Amino acid sequence: MPESQKAANKLYLFSGNLISKTYKMYSKSELIFCPAILFISKYALFFEGGFIIKNEKDVRKVTFVIGTAASGKTYFINQNYVGKDVDILDVFDYQKREYDKAKIKNSVPAGSVFRSLLKAQNDLLDDIIERLRSGRDVVVEQTLFKAKRRVAYIDKIREAVDASIEVYVMRPSDDRLRKNIEEREIDRTLETLKQYADEIEFPNPAEGFDKIYEVRDGVITPRMDEPRPEIVDEAREELVDEAARIQAEDDEKRKRQELLESMNTRPFWHYCEVCGKKEYLTAQEAFEGGWDYPPNMSCVFGVLGPRTCGDCTLVGTLYLKVMTSHKPPIVVESELTPKELETWRRIKGEPESLLD
Ligand SMILES: [Zn+2]
Repeated sequence: MPESQKAANKLYLFSGNLISKTYKMYSKSELIFCPAILFISKYALFFEGGFIIKNEKDVRKVTFVIGTAASGKTYFINQNYVGKDVDILDVFDYQKREYDKAKIKNSVPAGSVFRSLLKAQNDLLDDIIERLRSGRDVVVEQTLFKAKRRVAYIDKIREAVDASIEVYVMRPSDDRLRKNIEEREIDRTLETLKQYADEIEFPNPAEGFDKIYEVRDGVITPRMDEPRPEIVDEAREELVDEAARIQAEDDEKRKRQELLESMNTRPFWHYCEVCGKKEYLTAQEAFEGGWDYPPNMSCVFGVLGPRTCGDCTLVGTLYLKVMTSHKPPIVVESELTPKELETWRRIKGEPESLLD
């Protein structure tokens, strides 16, 4: 191994992230005969009689192509990158995968849409970083309308790899957009797509992009607006808030799960809604005593069903009343007696309502 390479390895071990594969070690004598390398000395570090030079060829590039549906992202990528030595990734593939996972029958449950989208974003980011690390350039079809999403991406990429980051923003004319909608039979009006387009916060250099371009009907124009660092500050604050909110939701879900699991073994109050009996029992004790009560196969906490002791039957339960008086069966609070209302509120508040 040449001396210079040994020194580079030593420095690599010493400084961790600072020196990576993208740097090459040159001895002083090599550099004396190579003024071109000295010319890019802003990338050079002096070390033990040699220079560490960032090898420009080894700096990877990630290119984001963003815009609304029908704005021409895929066309732009096909024209400029297909067949080139780059990896092409599309956020839509990641979103589709998450939707398929979350799908119950034909719809995605309301609460999980945001989570699915976020998961897709994060998985795509992981893949981008992995490709860059393995020495590939990457082109990404993305939405990334909001500065905060882009800042989150750029921060993570910069933390992980040394890469040049560019973005192309598709901003077609109305005529072009209208044609795209017709040609691809897209189920959205021009007005709707223009509203989406208005939601795009145009990328600002302060977000950390090396290059920013606007693309209008095939014409590419560099557009580096005046840097606005406050955008990034706000974005970071929003990201911190969002992370805190997600954490709180996760904690809440976990606590609820733990509580539900504890109900299998801990004693809790069993109320017979028919005879009014009230006993502090475990689920096992209640089962042996003939109680019809959650948790069991047919009874779920918080969901309307009979709540009866071993001496009583369905007759006189709120469950039977609701199941036989409405089609479809729904609880109408104004039609309940005070006793039924008490039962109903206790059921809705389960399992917490059974604890003390
Ligand atoms: Zn009873």
